[in-house]
Order: sequence, then C-alpha cells, then structure tokens
Amino acid sequence: MAKSKYKSWPFNEANKLKNRFRQAPTEPVRFETGFGPSGLPHIGTFAEVARTTWVRQAFEFLTQWPTQLIAFSDDMDGLRKVPLNMPRQDMLADNLGKPLCHIPDPFDECESYSAYMNGKLNEFLNRYRFDYTFQSSYEAYRRGDFNEGLAVILQKVDGVKDLILPTMSEAKRENWSPFFPICEKCGRIYSTRVVGYHPQDNTIDYICDREDGLVQCCHHTASTSIFDGRVKVGWKIDWALRWYCYDIGYEMYGKDLIESAKLSGKIVRLMGKQPPSGYFYELFLDEDGRKISKSVGRGLTIDSWTSYAPLESLLYYIFQNPKQAKRLFWGIVPKSVDDYLTGLANYDQLAGTKQPDSTIWHLFHKGADVPAFKTSITFSLINNLISAVGADDIDLILNYLKRYDASIDRYADIVEDLVKKAMNYYRDFILPHKKFRTPSAHEKTILQKLRDSLKAYEGEDETELQTIPFDVARSFEVPPKDLFKMFYEVAMGQERGPRFGTFIRLVGKTKVLNLLDRVIDA
Ligand SMILES: [Zn+2]
Repeated sequence: MAKSKYKSWPFNEANKLKNRFRQAPTEPVRFETGFGPSGLPHIGTFAEVARTTWVRQAFEFLTQWPTQLIAFSDDMDGLRKVPLNMPRQDMLADNLGKPLCHIPDPFDECESYSAYMNGKLNEFLNRYRFDYTFQSSYEAYRRGDFNEGLAVILQKVDGVKDLILPTMSEAKRENWSPFFPICEKCGRIYSTRVVGYHPQDNTIDYICDREDGLVQCCHHTASTSIFDGRVKVGWKIDWALRWYCYDIGYEMYGKDLIESAKLSGKIVRLMGKQPPSGYFYELFLDEDGRKISKSVGRGLTIDSWTSYAPLESLLYYIFQNPKQAKRLFWGIVPKSVDDYLTGLANYDQLAGTKQPDSTIWHLFHKGADVPAFKTSITFSLINNLISAVGADDIDLILNYLKRYDASIDRYADIVEDLVKKAMNYYRDFILPHKKFRTPSAHEKTILQKLRDSLKAYEGEDETELQTIPFDVARSFEVPPKDLFKMFYEVAMGQERGPRFGTFIRLVGKTKVLNLLDRVIDA
C-alpha cells in the first residue's frame, strides 16, 4: 500500500481512502457525518464534523480530487422517550413512536420537532464555517433517493435477517423486520410489525399492534409500497442504505458504534457494495473520567467554551489523537489555549514540507489562513497577571502585557480577545477557588528577606530576578519549592503560580514589593 509522506492522523486516514481508488473518480468523493435530531447538536457533533473535515482536507491535498461532506440528519427516526429538557412534555408523550419529522416543534418555531433541531444543527455548523451539505433523512426517503437500495433490501430480506437476528435477544427476534412502515392511520413508526414481504412489487404488509413501553398502537392493517418515505429501515440497515445509495467513501464514528458499523458493513456488502473507509474515535469523558452522556450535557458547550477561550484552542485539543479518551471539563482550558498558542507561534518555523503534519495546518484550512502570532504571551501568564492586578480593567492588563512584550501590538486583536476571555475564565473558575492564608511568623521573616533582596536588586533581567528567591531559600535552608508554594499561597491564594522572574518582569517590581508588604503586615 502506497504511503503518504505525511504522518498526522488525517493523512493516514486520507491515504487509506485514496488507496481504495485505482483511478481518479468521476464523482466527488463523499464523506458523511450523522446527527440524531432527538436533541440539540452538542460538542460530540462538533468534534465529529471537525475530525471528518480534517480527513477530507488532507484527502483533497493528497489527491486534488473533488469531495463533498454530507451532514446527514436521522429525522425520520421515531421519538422513543420524551427528552426531559424539552417544553410541552405531554404533547411529546402523545407523539411517542412517531417520526421526529412528524412531531410538532415543542418550541413552536418550526414545522416539526426535527425541523427545529435541524435548523439548530445548520446554525451551529455555519457559525463555525464548516463546509458541508445538509441532508434530511425524511427528504431523502420521500424524494426516492433510497428507493433502489430499499428494493435490494427487500429482495435480500432473509440475508439481512440472517446477519441481524443473531445479534439480538431471543425475545426480540420473532417479530423483527428491517422495515419500519409508518402506520397510515396513526402515524407511528415504532408500533408497526411487518407480516408479509412482496419483493415482486416492492410492497410489504403490516399491522399496527406493537405496544412496547410508552408507544401506543391503533391495530390498523395495510399493505404499502416501500418507496418514497412510506417505510423506513432500522438504523443499522439505514446506515448501510445511505452508504449504498450515496456511495459514501468515508465515515467516522464513536467507539460505542464499532459493532454497529461492522454489521452495517456486512449489510452493504450483502447489497453489493463496499462499506466506506472508516475510523472510530474515543468518546469524551467528564472531569471524573465518566462518559459524557449526550442527553445530560454537563454545561460545557461550544458557546460557553468560546466565552472563555478561542474556539481554535478547543479544536486543537480535539485534534490530538482521536483514539485517546479525552476529558472535557473547564480545567483543561488554560493548557489547551497555551498548547494552541505555542503551535501557532512555532508554525512558521516549520519547513514547508513539515507544515501539513502540524495541527495548526489542519485547523486553518490546509494552512491557508494561519494567523501570525509570535509572542511570549500565554493564557496562564495573562491569568497570573489578572491574579496580581485584578480582573476589572482590560486596558490595564493590556498595558502590563505591552510593557512585558512590546510585540503584542502586532497581534492586538488576538491578544485583546485572549485577555477578555481570560478575564471571564479568571472570574468564573479561578477566583472562586482562591484561598489566601496568613503566613506564620517564621514565614514572614523569609518574605521580609525576599522583599529586601528584591528591593536591593536594580536590574530587570529575568534570569537574575529568578535567582533571588533561590538565594533566600538557601539562606533559610528551606527547599526552594517550599518557598515558592508559600509565596503563591499567601500572595496569590493558590498553590502554584508563575515563574518568579517572569512574574516580576510582568507586573513590575513596585507592585510585587507592595504585595509582599501587604502579606507581611497581615
Ligand atoms: Zn397505527
């Protein structure tokens, strides 16, 4: 198998996909992502579209072939339970078992439940300027996009059953069918049971008599064409149907769907085509290492992330090894931002041939619009500065930063945005956890010595400033790390803090002397 000279994972994926072609395709190569519109788009949706986009870009870069990304919404799926965070719970309960596209919008803004969710998905993907083609499942079924594939499934219905039934519990096997007709009388999709298959005229017979759990039924019986949106197939078959009818070349999925993807792969082979090239990613975990549930978002949304940090820092974090489970909580913000800024600052030092392996290249459209940013300013540094001088005056913070590193004027927009976000982050996540303690008498003696040594030093050299606390620690025979910890606890109310020399250079000697006076006098 021919290898790509680029090593980053999107290139490995792109190369795998490229190797499936013996010659340039005549149609755009299709990538797909899936969205379940029973709830709002969330960070998992965002990550999947972003990751697929990176593979797509790498593929375009390697091949120069046209591509398309289809964001597919499963809006013909039925509603199985009433989501707790939705208004009009009673109305939704009455509509359980109906396709999402036939249930009224509980917010009364759109023509259906799923139209509202689809609108939110489009808004969400557009806001972050993803390049994609939206496709509603309902429209695709109704338009007949899937008719050809549906006919194949009906012809091979026994083969499909042979693949699916062994994966199900005995109790569920008896009445199982790949087809879910929408009851023409009551409109439900999860209440019907197929009782006859007629591949010769593409129809099936059904009876609406399944009452599982909360879903009601109406006992109607009928025959129906499987075409044009009257019938849907169960979701693993649906996945195969899409791959088959849209010739999907590439699709990613979460680790929880590995078995489903294998099964859908077998079904599409049975239908006569190859499954797409694929890749599974690990799921996000919360702060305590538990899987983040889709329905119970724990507060961390894309919008809230962007009030505390640049969106690109989240993308930078998501980009790193998708096969590694990532914890997603507010504590990762400072490191993610600083990793991103470091990547940005180092980007133009990379040789041109090395750039496509840099995360930054992927984040900024194949390196086309990488912003210039080359300063020593970091998010942690800004947070430390805010800790020392307060969080209510953005100009004050900017002035300190300019004095520390005059080059920031060249990146004024980026830096100002960073400061605004850092101020929000400081207010909501750092300040509430600050615990100042009063130094002991002995500690005050050490701090007094630190103060006097700092006052006596005339220069501005960061390295020389850094030696001051080490000399003081030595003279008191305390380990330097204990002195630093004590200083941060009494002066900044936190256990860790900035490098001493950097901190003095940043906030100025006078300010630090005042700070020391205050804690010594406390
Ligand atoms: Zn019915």
